[in-house]
Amino acid sequence: MSTGYFGNWGGAFIPEVLHETFVQLNKAYKEIRADKAFWQEYLDLMMNYSCRPTPLTYAKNLSDHFGGAQIFIKREDLNHTGAHKANNVMGQGLLVKRMGKKRVIAETGAGQHGVATATMAARFGFDCTIYMGEEDVERQRPNVFWMEKLGATVVPVTDGSRTLKDAINEAFRDWVTRMDDTHYVFGTVCGPHPFPEMVAWFQSIIGTEAHEQILKQFGKLPSRVYACVGGGSNAIGVFQGFLDDEVELVGVEAGGKGIETDQHAARMKGNRASPGVAQGYKTMFLQDDDGQMLDTHSIAAGLDYVGISPILAELGESGRVRFEAVTDAEVLEALTLTMQKEGIIPALESTHGFVQAFKEAGQMSPDEAIIINMSGRGDKDIFTIAHSYDDPSWKEFIVKRARMYQS
Ligand SMILES: *Cc1c(COP(=O)(O)O)cnc(C)c1O
Repeated sequence: MSTGYFGNWGGAFIPEVLHETFVQLNKAYKEIRADKAFWQEYLDLMMNYSCRPTPLTYAKNLSDHFGGAQIFIKREDLNHTGAHKANNVMGQGLLVKRMGKKRVIAETGAGQHGVATATMAARFGFDCTIYMGEEDVERQRPNVFWMEKLGATVVPVTDGSRTLKDAINEAFRDWVTRMDDTHYVFGTVCGPHPFPEMVAWFQSIIGTEAHEQILKQFGKLPSRVYACVGGGSNAIGVFQGFLDDEVELVGVEAGGKGIETDQHAARMKGNRASPGVAQGYKTMFLQDDDGQMLDTHSIAAGLDYVGISPILAELGESGRVRFEAVTDAEVLEALTLTMQKEGIIPALESTHGFVQAFKEAGQMSPDEAIIINMSGRGDKDIFTIAHSYDDPSWKEFIVKRARMYQS
């Protein structure tokens, strides 16, 4: 087991008061990794509560459309709560149960991790508090609504830019005051050790299944695997199934309005990010010369983050993973095509992987396969997507609704 470093990246930069909590957490994590019964319990839970194994869908119409590689889609959207987030929160839920803690806290940006954590807490009977930037609380009302109805307390964070990074800082502050009964359910493969390694372990279920499924359905390994990269958990999840194979791994970042502008969230592609230590770990951050985090932009809220997993920073530096960035406009185009050719609605985040795959599929041979990891479903994005289409009947619907509440 690693010390939490991946090449130059990672580590555990934590306040002294959390030292004992991390000793306990590392010990509990070591125990579950050594215990085969734990993984079996996890698999049972995922099978009976979260639709696992998720299918690997052959996208025949899209494959024919591009006339190159055979396109397969790993359907993480079919998980409970609609994304790969369930793989992580359910695993950490079982860990919390073993540690005998009764309360969980989490950060959330778009609200997806918050909803998944609130769901897990309801299922396991934990008290649950979610930290969310005030700006995000305003933008993501439907997710806030569901978190509260699921029994969680949502705390709007008014510091800084009032978004995800501020929510993470506030969650750490809470943890410091309530270490004894509380576990912090970190949402992605970032933060201090053991979070990157532990979350990667839970998400490895994606790659393990995909490896087996592609061999069964296609008879050989894919040439390339594509995944969108926010913090990096769905990407690392699927990549782990193919790390030791001759399979090219492609991570796709949020190019926003273009990586030549300052409105994007690309850390590995381009040269806007630099090494830094923040939020408990060392990685490539989008920051200024004084280490102040920059404002980022993406049409996909889940990719709009200043850091990246130390595991992916290492895999990028070593050349094992190739990074690309695609723009908001390209994402909307690929989303429309995927809906109309396959009857599948990918999340705006996931669609980033589709864009890059579509750019390359046509130049590949029909004897080759590629896998796109579809991290989640797009239903949650209806407000953003309808707004981008400038859909008149949608606008009318919103206006009518608003009037209903005004009278
Ligand atoms: C949260 C989220 C992401 C980004 O997180 P990663 O840790 O990079 O996987 C991507 N897709 C969906 C659907 C999400 O909800």
